[in-house]
Amino acid sequence: MRFHISTDLEGVEGVVLPVQTESGNPMYERARRLLTREVNIVVQTLNELGIEEIIVLDGHGANQAYNLVYEELVDGAKYIMGSPWPDYLTMLTSDFDGLMLIGAHAMAGTKGSVLDHTMSSISWRGAYINDIPVGEIGMCAFYAGSLGVPLVFVSGDDKACLEAKNLVSDVEVAITKYGLTRTSAVMLPQTTVENNIKSALKRAVEKCKIIKPLTIDGPVSFKIEFLLAEHAQRYWNKEGAKLLDARTVVFTGKDARDAIERWLST
Ligand SMILES: [Zn+2]
Repeated sequence: MRFHISTDLEGVEGVVLPVQTESGNPMYERARRLLTREVNIVVQTLNELGIEEIIVLDGHGANQAYNLVYEELVDGAKYIMGSPWPDYLTMLTSDFDGLMLIGAHAMAGTKGSVLDHTMSSISWRGAYINDIPVGEIGMCAFYAGSLGVPLVFVSGDDKACLEAKNLVSDVEVAITKYGLTRTSAVMLPQTTVENNIKSALKRAVEKCKIIKPLTIDGPVSFKIEFLLAEHAQRYWNKEGAKLLDARTVVFTGKDARDAIERWLST
């Protein structure tokens, strides 16, 4: 079996403050190690389960995606680090058995969720796939679904896990913390997080064949609602980008993957 894993930082155990996600800050250096620990737990567990191929995409901070502590990574996976990537979920192809998300966070505007945002907390108010509100979890799930690959595992705070469940009811989730406000949470001990991840992963691998890929009939639109009109300015008069109003831009493709790639290439 083959699994593609995309990582983020906001949903990782122990991470609750914006400074922990900003490179250059001493607290970021510690957060990187917490992320690396979770990734290692996942890779080791999948190795023990006999998974042939594991790709891990270091996904936090698209402009400077170098979060994993390379020298601490365990054997048994291929790690994609650095940016930009050739496409959104790089190296994901239709012959994978599942997509997994580590350190995921809830979409912008989710009450009581840790560091909620969609792509950018500075310029994005929200995003939609055919008018279904999506955050990054939904974008990844629909993108993989276009390739026939189901979302099978998510780790993150309780709101991120709920968001994943609302999209894909059979997805297995591992809660790392319980969000109180955007910058506070009830933390779980590391051993509890480790056990949550291991048991959810085992269930995900067992049932991945019966989890349905998240698909939607085409054509599919990917709509971005920016916070301000000036954030949408770069899409004025760009082929493939349709402005619905001063701060809302739509990209249309044959499926969700195509629509998201059209946004990325515009
Ligand atoms: Zn992130």
